Amino acid sequence: MDRKMLHNLSYGLYACTTEEDGKPVGCIINTCVQVTSEPATVIASVNHDNYTNACIAKAGKFAISIYGEKADPKSIGTLGYHSTKDGDKFGDIDYKLVDGMPIIGDAVAYGCFKVIDKMETSTHTVFLGEMYEGEVCSDDTPMTYSYYRSVLKGTSPKNAPTYEAPKEEAKEEEAPVADNKIWRCMLCGYVYDGDTPFEELPDDWTCPLCGATKDQFEQVDA
Ligand code: FE
Repeated sequence: MDRKMLHNLSYGLYACTTEEDGKPVGCIINTCVQVTSEPATVIASVNHDNYTNACIAKAGKFAISIYGEKADPKSIGTLGYHSTKDGDKFGDIDYKLVDGMPIIGDAVAYGCFKVIDKMETSTHTVFLGEMYEGEVCSDDTPMTYSYYRSVLKGTSPKNAPTYEAPKEEAKEEEAPVADNKIWRCMLCGYVYDGDTPFEELPDDWTCPLCGATKDQFEQVDA
């Protein structure tokens, strides 16, 4: 069986949000698919480990903000690689509330859905949602998961259905900087490819994708 077959399926990149006692919560998902037209319903797959999962079940509703290619990668990083349990994820994110649920500021479009059914898998809850609100917000091109990976160099958060554990890297202690080495964010997998040598970046430089600090980068083979 060749699991790479799955790499040929198409996905998008979405902020899946809801509310908990009036507070905005949300995470990043890449699996949201329209399954019927009348009524307009979608399925959204959310990992059991995402705090948002239980909040959707409790609120009985969720919103999907569709990221565009021009979206701020930090928004994706903040929602995708941090947990609401560790602090307010929406503090630094541009958003508006629709029916109490946060909609990402630079979303191409968004929809609000009432949970009408759900199915449990071993790792994810698949929510079936009927749309009751929706709007197209810009003419930016919706971001595909493939674009996110190839252009933004993003990787799957651990809770994504498409996550695959990285292969063990051979650790080299105090290895000298070599041409075939790259600096990779241990949090989100972003690979630094700027013109300034990584070592010369200012101490307060952070990962453009997830906001991790410089010391959360590791040097690995290219
Ligand atoms: Fe990162």
